[in-house]
Amino acid sequence: MTNNKITIALSKGRIFKETLPLLKHAGIEPIDDIATSRKLILQTNQPNVQLVIIRASDVPTYVQYGAADVGVAGKDVLLEHGGQGLYEPLDLEIAKCKLMTAGPVELPDNEPPRLKIATKFINVTKAYYASIGQQVEIIKLYGSMELAPLVGLADRIVDVVDTGNTLKANKLVPMEHIADISSRLVVNTASLKMKHAVIKPFIDTLREAVENRR
Ligand code: AMP
Repeated sequence: MTNNKITIALSKGRIFKETLPLLKHAGIEPIDDIATSRKLILQTNQPNVQLVIIRASDVPTYVQYGAADVGVAGKDVLLEHGGQGLYEPLDLEIAKCKLMTAGPVELPDNEPPRLKIATKFINVTKAYYASIGQQVEIIKLYGSMELAPLVGLADRIVDVVDTGNTLKANKLVPMEHIADISSRLVVNTASLKMKHAVIKPFIDTLREAVENRR
């Protein structure tokens, strides 16, 4: 007998909130309230569909290894992960922002020839500076990147920017545009084959929901 149960990986916060209406269009609604539940596996009104709630940066890994059949992840996270084992059939057009370099409003007169760049996006940052032929030193951080230039840890940061308010509040300005970001539906390539009968209509219905929202 084929296993037609599907597990969807989502992260809390903006992605969860903006994915819910799309899932609803596909007839999927969580039974538990994510705001109050501490459960990491949420059952839905569809007996064959469950949600797992994980860190945004872990979504590609769960889907890559088939612990989740499908997931929703930001393009920033997918670029950093590299996308191995993942099929990316659909731009959900949610959680839009830009991946940018940013630096102090007032640059010092003498910047070092080899800039220090603080970021959690190590791979994307390496690839970006390599693509423009600039040698840099990359410093891995896990959050609050905006602090790094303020305290002399780095000359620039690479981070996602939405309104730019966080940069502004920390006397930083966006500089170079690296990529436009939005959340994507990702599918485990083996699940797509093995559970095609449920995953294909699921993708089609979400596509329809995205198109209806335009
Ligand atoms: P901003 O609106 O530019 O002040 O964004 C504030 C912070 O929210 C930034 O430092 C980002 O880390 C984060 N952020 C904004 N948009 C997104 C997004 N679409 N996905 C993930 N993080 C985001």
